[in-house]
Amino acid sequence: MSEAAGRRLVARRNFLAGLTALPAVAVPQRQTPDWWLPDLTREEAQVRKQLSTATGTKLVLLGTHGGPQPGQVRHNSSNVIVHKGAAYMVDCGLGVTNQFARTGLSFSAVRSIFITHHHPDHNIEYGPFLVIGWADGGLKQSVTAYGPPPLEQMTRDFLRSQQATIQFWAEDFEIAPLKMIGVHDLPKAGPVMQDENVRVTSVLVQHPPVKPAYGYRFDFPDRSIVFSGDTVPLRAVAEIARGADVLVHEAMDLAAVRAEAQQAIKRGAKSIETQSGFDVFMRHIIADHSPAEEVGKIAQVAGVKTLVLSHLVPASTSVSDSTWRALAAKHYKGEIIVGHDLMVI
Ligand SMILES: [Zn+2]
Ligand SMILES: [Zn+2]
Repeated sequence: MSEAAGRRLVARRNFLAGLTALPAVAVPQRQTPDWWLPDLTREEAQVRKQLSTATGTKLVLLGTHGGPQPGQVRHNSSNVIVHKGAAYMVDCGLGVTNQFARTGLSFSAVRSIFITHHHPDHNIEYGPFLVIGWADGGLKQSVTAYGPPPLEQMTRDFLRSQQATIQFWAEDFEIAPLKMIGVHDLPKAGPVMQDENVRVTSVLVQHPPVKPAYGYRFDFPDRSIVFSGDTVPLRAVAEIARGADVLVHEAMDLAAVRAEAQQAIKRGAKSIETQSGFDVFMRHIIADHSPAEEVGKIAQVAGVKTLVLSHLVPASTSVSDSTWRALAAKHYKGEIIVGHDLMVI
């Protein structure tokens, strides 16, 4: 043992001897760290409690980030609506599988999946969600997906790419392999589906060059919930949302987007703004998305009870909740909720 190590050992012995000399109450209880079994995070505990005590239809925002960036405070777009134990998914952006699991819901509860449009922040984890849901032992073969074409082909191609993986697992655990699920391509807007819980209709939104891109309205017996999908401000969204309880609308803070894009380009960040250049990036932003002030106007015209701002751009913490709320409140007098991941509405 080196001299230094010897000194440390003596110091430690003296320290421990000192501790035993203290009155019993002053000695802290030795805690076994549960590092191999972390506690549920506050958000997880909250969402599980709220869902387990819910009486009516509940919406959980799984991801509230606009755009495909990984590793952010918020996850990419995804939502789940729960009604009488049945789960209806809206979009499957990056992180949807983990976020869904964190709610404590079972994959066996998933009845249907709705994709608004084919951008990666809305569909990239759709296939993995199916396979992990099945491998976890819960996802039913009867789950049905709806979305713009070519959703059927995309599903078939993804499941084919996973065929060997699925087969190994099925063989090993002697379970039925996941086969092609039911998929309905939606070439045009209108009625989508109806079951004993809900009637779903779609609206065509404007999100070039993505065609078609949809918003969806869900009418449950106790509650109606509308999703704008990704779009510029549209009267058609106000019309489909008319009288709804909840409108989940995409929103951006245009001034903040402009400032953050300029900063990203200036510091040469490896981001979409730098790749495209300021003008091309801003042209996309303006041609494809909705400033929060305009979202307020749509909610006011539609007369919805609650406006939920989601798919936030920028999704960083540089825009505070009160700023988001103030932007939408310029034209909307109802309740405004600024979306955060795992929020139950
Ligand atoms: Zn998006
Ligand atoms: Zn999009």
